[in-house]
Amino acid sequence: MDLDSFSTWLEIDLGAIRNNVHKLTEICGTSVMGVVKANGYGHGMVEVSRAAVAAGAAWLGVARIEEALVLRQAGIQCRILVMGFTPPARVPEAAVQNITLTVYDPQAASAYSEQAISAGSKITVHLKIDSGMGRLGAFPGEGVELLRWLTAQPGLDVEGIFTHFARADEPKLPTTKWQLQRFTELLDALQEQGLRPRLVHASNSAAALFTPKARFDLVRCGIAMYGLCPSSEAVLPDGFRPALSLKSRLISVKNMPGGHGISYNHRYVTRREERVGVAAIGYADGFRRRVGAFALVHGQRVPVLGSVCMDMCMVKLDQAPQARVGDEIVFIGQQNGQGISVEDLAAEWNTIDYEVVCGMSARLPRIFLE
Ligand SMILES: *Cc1c(COP(=O)(O)O)cnc(C)c1O
Repeated sequence: MDLDSFSTWLEIDLGAIRNNVHKLTEICGTSVMGVVKANGYGHGMVEVSRAAVAAGAAWLGVARIEEALVLRQAGIQCRILVMGFTPPARVPEAAVQNITLTVYDPQAASAYSEQAISAGSKITVHLKIDSGMGRLGAFPGEGVELLRWLTAQPGLDVEGIFTHFARADEPKLPTTKWQLQRFTELLDALQEQGLRPRLVHASNSAAALFTPKARFDLVRCGIAMYGLCPSSEAVLPDGFRPALSLKSRLISVKNMPGGHGISYNHRYVTRREERVGVAAIGYADGFRRRVGAFALVHGQRVPVLGSVCMDMCMVKLDQAPQARVGDEIVFIGQQNGQGISVEDLAAEWNTIDYEVVCGMSARLPRIFLE
């Protein structure tokens, strides 16, 4: 792909994805589910999925059935779990496409069973347990009875049971251990009754890395696969590599006279004659509309000036006087040994790295580096 053809783009290093899946496999010693919901955390779902599978991921995890169907349409054949809700009307399609669904309440589960039977098949499901996340799932106390009932439904194959941690990215807190204990007690009770499903999973990236006892048969890793830290307290071990870079080009460079307002509402006014560049990136690309961000030009950190517009923003080029129209400007990633990380931008925007990458807009071309 000729990068000269683009003015703003995402570069996705698929080698980093493969490397990170290898690292997770090596550290956890379990199967890995590559979590690729939300367009692969903004990275590009299909290409990331292929890379994850090539590196040995046995499963892919998505939030919605639509995402799973896109993966199947792309010819991806590994196991896929839809971790969110699936409308019962989708069950026949899911069964045909060998997509595994999540169940957590008897009403939906019984509708799934009926749908599967009327389509002449069975649907494979995993039971979700709410061990403390306060989101989807049956409570641990309901688990034995619910699993007994689910197992008796003729249209269901209850293959797995799982839970999700609320505070695994705060590894010093006891919450994950407490959730794990509640989940493990349920597993023991199920074992006693001969009801324990053959696949057990609990860990997101943070728990996979920092709570070894929660690894069970499978770890569900999103953020670490993309080479990003679950939180500032749950930092990735050495050897992981971020996969995403956000790059643009200068599409105008000019000297502005002193006292000249820059961008909507003139939130920046030049103090003297200043060299100002326009980058072809804006909030419609996922680069937020706020003052105070930085970018890299010729390896120099340059400030964004004034309001970020929909499709463009302005930068002060005093630190990079050699900058010319057409030069690359990096908003996330490396340039000449300097770097701006997703985490840097997240701190700047007062949010988490997950939200930064998921916010990368659909219109950005994604350039995949093998
Ligand atoms: C998104 C998600 C994950 C992945 O979480 P990371 O912190 O990105 O590893 C795992 N499990 C469930 C249920 C999820 O929704």
